[in-house]
Amino acid sequence: MSSDCLFCKIVAGEIPADVIYESDTAIGFRDINAQAPTHAVVIPRKHIATINDIEPEDQAVVGSLYTAAKAIAAQEGIADVGYRAVMNCNEAAGQTVFHIHLHVLGGRTLTWPPG
Ligand code: AMP
Ligand code: ZN
Repeated sequence: MSSDCLFCKIVAGEIPADVIYESDTAIGFRDINAQAPTHAVVIPRKHIATINDIEPEDQAVVGSLYTAAKAIAAQEGIADVGYRAVMNCNEAAGQTVFHIHLHVLGGRTLTWPPG
């Protein structure tokens, strides 16, 4: 855990979140600033700051984020129509919380490319 990390505090239960998915390695919760009817954030319980900080031993943990995204999409009823699972890396991509997270977005038509 990184003591000054917002998402580590959510993992620890020190900051409340609307948790909709939990596994041994990951949790998913609703984004406080939803950009789509479904907008969840999926994070590893382990603190990893950015994609650039993922190490070979983290592969199973990172893979589990997609297992979480799949489960959330099914729960939310958007699996078949389609959704997006995206991770931003560093400032130019819009990363604001430096604990890796998959955004799971759906419930509306999403445009491509993103802005
Ligand atoms: P990013 O900009 O890719 O780093 O994404 C960070 C996301 O976390 C944003 O979509 C924020 O709205 C979301 N967020 C920040 N704080 C919280 C919180 N306390 N609970 C839920 N979502 C949050
Ligand atoms: Zn963290």
